[in-house]
Amino acid sequence: MAPYFRDLCVAKNCNIAIIGAGPYGLSLAAHLKAAGADFRIFGRPMATWRNHMPRGMLLKSDGFASNLSAPDPASKLKAWCSARGIEFNDRYIPVPLSVFCDYAAWFQRTYVPALDVRQVTSLAAMHPGFALTLDNGERIEAAHVVLAVGLTHFTHTPECLTGFSPELVSHSFYHRDFDRFAGRHLLVIGAGASAIDCAALATEAGAHVSLMARASSIQYQTAPDPDAGSWLERFQEKLAAVFRSEPRQTEEAATTPGWFMRNKLEGKVLEYLGYTIDTAREEAGRIAVTATGSEGQTLTVTADHVIAATGYRPDLRRLPFLDSGMLDAVTHTDHSPRLSGNLETSLAGLYVLGPLAAQSFGPQMRDMTGAESAAPRLAAHLARTAQARRIKAA
Ligand SMILES: Cc1cc2nc3c(=O)[nH]c(=O)nc-3n(C[C@H](O)[C@H](O)[C@H](O)COP(=O)(O)OP(=O)(O)OC[C@H]3O[C@@H](n4cnc5c(N)ncnc54)[C@H](O)[C@@H]3O)c2cc1C
Repeated sequence: MAPYFRDLCVAKNCNIAIIGAGPYGLSLAAHLKAAGADFRIFGRPMATWRNHMPRGMLLKSDGFASNLSAPDPASKLKAWCSARGIEFNDRYIPVPLSVFCDYAAWFQRTYVPALDVRQVTSLAAMHPGFALTLDNGERIEAAHVVLAVGLTHFTHTPECLTGFSPELVSHSFYHRDFDRFAGRHLLVIGAGASAIDCAALATEAGAHVSLMARASSIQYQTAPDPDAGSWLERFQEKLAAVFRSEPRQTEEAATTPGWFMRNKLEGKVLEYLGYTIDTAREEAGRIAVTATGSEGQTLTVTADHVIAATGYRPDLRRLPFLDSGMLDAVTHTDHSPRLSGNLETSLAGLYVLGPLAAQSFGPQMRDMTGAESAAPRLAAHLARTAQARRIKAA
């Protein structure tokens, strides 16, 4: 751990700066506020959920696992739905995106009212502390910084699909609705939750959809079985897995297609499964994708547009606001930061929450369930650190 400003750090504008106001940033802020900590949180609230998820989407996480976290038990989605007469079930009723966004907006107004919607455009380490620049040029100094930037900067598109105009190829992150594809041929690449959501919702919008994926079958979530173990057992298993110390491979946790999507897709979409894309080329304003099947056969599909629902690759180098000196100071594995048990990077005072922490803390950090453990844990650590500093200074 880099020692260079651990003990010297003095907050000038704030003690803790949180970058990002998604489920992780807001949950941490709610716990810090309850602990009376000095913090600021930056970013447009729930921007990923409001701007980058398809209208009409149903959450993949069960109702009981779709909470933002605050110390108040009334902060849970179940309590919020119950107070408003909104249909809710821990497992059997999928949560609509619109309901979740309304709940999250209420959560933010109730538990994190003082939010600064400005974007952070640069972050540099000082000695001591950190300097943040906001999108209006204002400079803030903070003793601790928490990166809670979600998947925003990490879209992954296969090499052979890059370099085309956005009219021909786009990533699933950029699709909120699919009306513009009505009557057109759309090729969706991928077999994860985003691919299935895009394919199903585009079909409902009147597009002719083909789906191509390397996987030989679509692995939907298992539909809830009333005779299987209780949700409480499943939740306890998930929580136990969150705070493991050894680094591990990130799996696609909330990216498994919802059990409720099977009927919306099967028989309505042309499926090319077991195919790996080799090349893509433009042909008279359309795009032709050539792929090789599992038995060596070649296939070419021509479409008006290709959506690459090909996931996200968290990578510190892709954070556009991060000073290059900081990149050098953070120890990483495959460009994901290595974190201590308190979610701190090797650059003392710099913390990470959410998907960028999944390499160290497991796939739950990709889903909001991870915030239910990580946010109170990090808030308690930061509050203790600030307290220790005050005692030392006195
Ligand atoms: C299509 C889709 C469906 C999903 N469905 C589910 C689901 O059903 N259940 C589930 O648990 N998970 C789901 N996920 C995963 C989901 O992204 C995470 O659970 C959750 O959003 C992670 O929270 P977060 O706060 O880390 O990230 P985000 O929600 O992405 O929030 C990060 C925030 O940081 C902001 N930000 C980034 N850079 C800056 C900056 N420089 N300055 C200020 N702000 C910045 C962004 O605008 C964003 O609002 C889904 C993901 C996708 C893509």
